[in-house]
Amino acid sequence: MADDLILDVQDVKKAYDGLEVLKGIGFGLRKGETKVLIGPSGSGKSTLLRCINHLTVPDAGRIYLNGDEVLDTNIDAMRARMGFVFQDFNLFSHLTVLDNVRICQIKVNGTEKAAATQRAHRELERVGLSDKADAYPAELSGGQQQRVSIARALAMDPDVLLFDEPTSALDPELTGEVVRVMQQLAAEGMTMVVVTHEMSFARQAADEIIFMEDGHIIEQGPPETMFTDSTHERTRAFLNVIA
Ligand code: ADP
Ligand code: MG
Repeated sequence: MADDLILDVQDVKKAYDGLEVLKGIGFGLRKGETKVLIGPSGSGKSTLLRCINHLTVPDAGRIYLNGDEVLDTNIDAMRARMGFVFQDFNLFSHLTVLDNVRICQIKVNGTEKAAATQRAHRELERVGLSDKADAYPAELSGGQQQRVSIARALAMDPDVLLFDEPTSALDPELTGEVVRVMQQLAAEGMTMVVVTHEMSFARQAADEIIFMEDGHIIEQGPPETMFTDSTHERTRAFLNVIA
């Protein structure tokens, strides 16, 4: 294992009832890198992200976070170091925005309430929602809810952030505010894996794009290469449709 990798995914495989969904996936992520994972629906992107923090348990392969292997036995501690941002936000509807952002700090990390509150306010400011601390999720737009969910992940001070189609549930006019927050995080040196169809984000923020199809990585490379002279017919076909 290369020890300068924050995240090191090696030969991960997963099948559901005999259907192989991940057929041996490996990639690495250095500190501060943003990798964008693209590919057709059903290619295994969500399964791969979920395998990284064992929301789905892989059948084979190894995953290392900062040199420590992710295992069933240490999964709670490992999950605390990986922020996960879901398509559908997953906020607690009965809690205020402030409580959503500080609860995991208190319950999982054992942070003192005052420090957790301070950190929550800092992360809400970072995503442009200082004025919404006392609101409930239902009082917010989808874009605002997704920014709360990003603030919640950031408040845990994660080693890596995993995003699974963070803008797919949003109306088009709300996508931009979430993409801008993600661009800002990438520019600030956050380490991130982002599954998205937002090709403007991929072009602008990705250090590398990984194209997946049918449980395999077909091709990976910097955006300038992938968008302009991909050598693979499948990648070109996909990008022609989506970009
Ligand atoms: P993507 O995120 O790229 O659209 P997914 O990882 O969600 O792809 O799905 C890959 C394949 O695995 C699909 O064929 C999907 O139907 C199947 N799949 C995903 N989750 C499950 C599950 N919990 N049980 C059975 N099949 C699943
Ligand atoms: Mg998916």
